[in-house]
Amino acid sequence: MTRADALVLFGATGDLARKEILPALYRLAQAGRLNLPVVGVALSELDSDEAFREHARAAVEAAIGDPDRELLAALLRRLSLVNGDYGDQATFEELADRLAGAARPMHYLAIPPSLFSMVVHRLAETGLHRGARVVVEKPFGRDLESARELNQVLREVFDESAILRTDHFLGKESVENLLAFRFANTLLEPVWNRHHVAAVQVTMAESFGIKGRGAFYDGVGAIRDVVQNHLLQVVALLAMEPPVDATAEALRDEKVKVVRAMRPVEPDQVVRGQFDGYRDEPGVAATSASETYAALRLDIDSWRWAGVPFFVRTGKHLATTALEAVVELHCPPKPLFAGADCDPRPNTVRLRLGHDPGVTMNVQAKQPGPRIVTRSVDLRVDFRTALGGTQQPYERLLDDALDGDTHRFAREDMVEQAWRVVEPALPSRGPVYGYPRGSWGPPQAVDVLGGGQWYEPEEAGE
Ligand code: NAP
Repeated sequence: MTRADALVLFGATGDLARKEILPALYRLAQAGRLNLPVVGVALSELDSDEAFREHARAAVEAAIGDPDRELLAALLRRLSLVNGDYGDQATFEELADRLAGAARPMHYLAIPPSLFSMVVHRLAETGLHRGARVVVEKPFGRDLESARELNQVLREVFDESAILRTDHFLGKESVENLLAFRFANTLLEPVWNRHHVAAVQVTMAESFGIKGRGAFYDGVGAIRDVVQNHLLQVVALLAMEPPVDATAEALRDEKVKVVRAMRPVEPDQVVRGQFDGYRDEPGVAATSASETYAALRLDIDSWRWAGVPFFVRTGKHLATTALEAVVELHCPPKPLFAGADCDPRPNTVRLRLGHDPGVTMNVQAKQPGPRIVTRSVDLRVDFRTALGGTQQPYERLLDDALDGDTHRFAREDMVEQAWRVVEPALPSRGPVYGYPRGSWGPPQAVDVLGGGQWYEPEEAGE
């Protein structure tokens, strides 16, 4: 793989560019990993190289705080701007002039998906697809059919190896650590199956709301926004078989294999909710039925997982911000120490994947005293203390994309299989229950479990 020699940023004025991509460019420059020209493309607001540089300066300062002045100045000198309509061939001809000499440009489509097709075709018409890579952002379509159409548009012009579908969860150290934790150890593998695991719960909770992105969010909802992509990726990493080797394709083969074994979600195994006051948010329809909360059950028909429910829930304005997976093991077959004062909790492996990454295993131990009475205790590791700091997802993903390394990007078949699984849960019918801000969502969410309780996340709010 050869590193890209120019970066084109479509949507240079956008929210994603400002919040994530421009600060990631600074971090890459800081790491000595940015040695190429960056050409922004924008229609409105920015109309000159200087305006783009000022925009980038503000974005980096907002994200980094107090950036190194010389480093920032050097980064800004790399930036230039093409101002024009994405539908206008002249924009692309100007871009081609700007890219003259670049043999391996990387086109980052930080624009609404509705514009992807137009931009991709214009790139091809101008010959800017040759030797190039393209980065696209989720959501990859709205359902299976639109995802297929989108993939077809991309595949008409680019080889699959040149298409990088960004799901920023795959750039999270904590999520990637699921691979290391499962496959660099032998401790868990013997119990990681239907014979020992009773159920798995994955929670992605956000204590904040839609952050002024009502117009975007209302057309999408929680299932499309985070379940189809982020949370199915987490479930795939939890449930996949060991890959045959560490290559990107071996890893992606196993992930897609486990998602292929998932049954489409049963509509009666989904509870949808909406936080109180959602319909008053700017950009949200007054009669909106979009869900800001979803809880659902996934079933994997494989030898390893048949009969083990995977429960997934996510929501906005919940009691805390956390990302966790709890793997619950069966209780001992014979409760030797059962009694009124015994703690009946099953063993759990809790994988903390959010802002407080680590693992907690909950086990029973004897309470000191004359009788054998057990109590739950935690075996807990905090990865930041044990292992040190972490890179930001967008920095790692951008660096990989420039290298053409597809490990941390979603493959076409994974995206389509994930839509196949969640499509029956999409909000076409069924109730949307209200829930108070700061709660754990609608009380009906417990029905998905068919008995039992949701585990409250251990990660405290940020
Ligand atoms: P955005 O701010 O809505 O749009 C990005 C840019 O695209 C705008 O600044 C605008 O630039 C151009 N644009 C928007 N609508 C247009 C239209 N109808 N016609 C022509 N140009 C238009 O989008 P974003 O939030 O940055 O997101 C970019 C991509 O990343 C999307 O695919 C989104 O789904 C995905 N994404 C975003 C986030 C996030 O946090 N923002 C997170 C994950 C994924 P000009 O006016 O200069 O042309």
